[in-house]
Amino acid sequence: MGIRPVVKYPNPVLREKAREVEGLTPEVECLLKDMLETMEAAKAVGLAANQVGVPLRVFVFDPRVQEGSPLKAPVGIVNPKILEASGAILWEEGCLSFPGIELNIARSERIVLDGLTQDGQPLGGIELDGLLAVCAQHEVDHLDGVLFIDHVSKLKREIALKRYLSPCQKEHDQAKAHF
Ligand SMILES: [Zn+2]
Repeated sequence: MGIRPVVKYPNPVLREKAREVEGLTPEVECLLKDMLETMEAAKAVGLAANQVGVPLRVFVFDPRVQEGSPLKAPVGIVNPKILEASGAILWEEGCLSFPGIELNIARSERIVLDGLTQDGQPLGGIELDGLLAVCAQHEVDHLDGVLFIDHVSKLKREIALKRYLSPCQKEHDQAKAHF
């Protein structure tokens, strides 16, 4: 299929809790391949399956944005699990499903991520920090139907959504990290 359209808020699929993947079927392999292409085309750091309208527990991310990452190439993660989380970090996040808004979100600074790679190999609990830890938390949130606007105060959320839903909304630049 190739590049798939990215679903935008308030599409209800973004609020669905994604289902576990039961096996790496040709459909799931195709989904992963398309998500990697879609992420690359959007110049994003990460993308969750609900963002292309498929509520399955799959995300892709591009570890090349961070030097010294334990992963070296864009990768799909199937049935991701955050085993450990520690520290605190504030990161200005963008989301492909909310073009035009960026929000400072408090996340864990370091995580241990498990799951399967797109080849069906266990990740075996890799340590991620900084941007990649932020990205993985943002994507696992997506798979639980949680959005980055849920992490800010009601007031900040209202201001952001007003700007987002405004017809005068400006095109977003891609200066910030988008997931
Ligand atoms: Zn997002």
